Amino acid sequence: MSLDGTYDAGNIFAKILRGEAPSVRVFEDEHVFAFMDVFPQSKGHTLVIPKHSTARNLLEEAPETLGPLMAGVQRVAKAVRAALNPDGIMISQFNGAPAGQTVYHLHFHIIPRWEGTPLGRHAEGMADVEELKALAAQISAKIS
Ligand code: 5GP
Repeated sequence: MSLDGTYDAGNIFAKILRGEAPSVRVFEDEHVFAFMDVFPQSKGHTLVIPKHSTARNLLEEAPETLGPLMAGVQRVAKAVRAALNPDGIMISQFNGAPAGQTVYHLHFHIIPRWEGTPLGRHAEGMADVEELKALAAQISAKIS
């Protein structure tokens, strides 16, 4: 899918937001929902999405949504750091299939990185849900 198109309310993140599909929740507030990526590229890979949005990508998002959304990304990234003590944190966001996007509800990846540990492949290799739940509990406990 290119940058052009219409929002599909049947996308997996919309289903997660409506409670129609399962997710391992890390944090939510009025504006954002954060949950574990089920095909993580590293231990603690977390996604942050706007709750009230039909933007498929960053270019489509209402500017007034970006402030609370990025505040949520920062808040969760700080909790990931506090919980998992990574050496670095990669924050990424893809727009359009050629850029690597596979789910068309705006989202940010928070990917902790450790020296000497290579990045896993994007959107491949399903994690153990119990492990994700344990990580989510660790991260969620550090939300401030
Ligand atoms: P994108 O490729 O669009 O930037 O990122 C989509 C992300 O969603 C990928 O990292 C992929 O692993 C993740 N993902 C795809 N399907 C699901 C799902 O059903 N649940 C969760 N938690 N993550 C998903």
